[in-house]
Amino acid sequence: MSVIASQTGNKIAFFSTQPYDKSFFNKYNSDFGFELDFFETQLNPQTATLIQDCAIVCVFVNDIVNEAVIKQLAAKKVRIIALRCAGFNNVDLEAAKKYNLKVCRVPAYSPQAVAEHAMAMILTLNRKTHKAYNRVREQNFSLNGLLGFDLFGKTIGIIGTGNIGKAFAKIALGFGCKVLAYDIVTNDEMIKDGVEFVSLETIFKSSDIISLHCPLNDQTKHIINKDSIALMKDSVMIINTSRGGLIETACVIEGLKEGKIGYLGIDVYEQEEKLFFRDLSADIIQDDAIQRLMSFPNVLVTAHQAFFTNEALTQIALVTFNNIKLLLTDNDIEHKAGLLV
Ligand code: NAD
Repeated sequence: MSVIASQTGNKIAFFSTQPYDKSFFNKYNSDFGFELDFFETQLNPQTATLIQDCAIVCVFVNDIVNEAVIKQLAAKKVRIIALRCAGFNNVDLEAAKKYNLKVCRVPAYSPQAVAEHAMAMILTLNRKTHKAYNRVREQNFSLNGLLGFDLFGKTIGIIGTGNIGKAFAKIALGFGCKVLAYDIVTNDEMIKDGVEFVSLETIFKSSDIISLHCPLNDQTKHIINKDSIALMKDSVMIINTSRGGLIETACVIEGLKEGKIGYLGIDVYEQEEKLFFRDLSADIIQDDAIQRLMSFPNVLVTAHQAFFTNEALTQIALVTFNNIKLLLTDNDIEHKAGLLV
């Protein structure tokens, strides 16, 4: 047994857990035999105190894993931070290295889940099925206001052609769209499939629909801003299933008010950690920007649910447990994409 396992057992403290997390992780733990400790609360400097005798912490997209938290984890002899998601912008990797903590993630649990949700948002915004659903239930069978457009032949611009962007490109090609893509690395397989790699400027200028699939980092933060919106076609549709910080919210609100942006679909939001994954239906929301966004008839907000399929949750549980098992038994997972630090 490794040093990590012998010192602190095999207990995993899960943060930001929902009933479905408990259900999937409990179900697949039978093959692994970890001790599971589920906390509903987010991990942050205050809640890190909940961790007791535990070498492994499992976190999700809105947990705060900054240097202050990592320092506390190290003091509590936590050795592994296992992200049960793909994005890792919420983890200070430098601090993890400094305090000698391993960080792993689930790099590709179901790219299709997110790609299909991006297409679902496009179809909903375009064909207004969410409005039609409510309308006919009130015996209103009028079509006024439901006019859409053919997706066939439209230009879709994809920013970020990793696992999800690639899966989304296939779907868009299947609809008969012209697919443009921008990434810091081009992908020959996608070019063979008919995707055209172009500059970021060309994506902004030429796309009827822009779908964001790059990670949030210093280069991509607020990639959708006043200047990029100014380059876009009138009535452009913007879809963000990646990370909220890719969009400068105030600029998008201006673009919607001016009619420059014709449709906006967001599954992620810059300030989502105060809102998403909980029922706030009886609360007064203090975030004016999200309230403004939700008031537009041409904006669709989903609460970070693009990953939320049976297949994805199964993969998340299995890969997370497997990452932890490999680290605990000192197996080198350097070559498995899951290990970040
Ligand atoms: P990935 O690592 O496979 O692909 C990311 C791609 O972005 C890579 O090809 C990379 O080269 C590219 N990239 C990096 N920097 C870039 C830049 N400056 N400009 C353009 N492209 C750049 O990741 P993935 O699995 O495809 O996931 C993409 C993002 O989707 C994740 O970072 C995560 O934030 C988000 N995500 C959201 C959900 C959800 O439920 N909404 C679920 C999973 C992932």
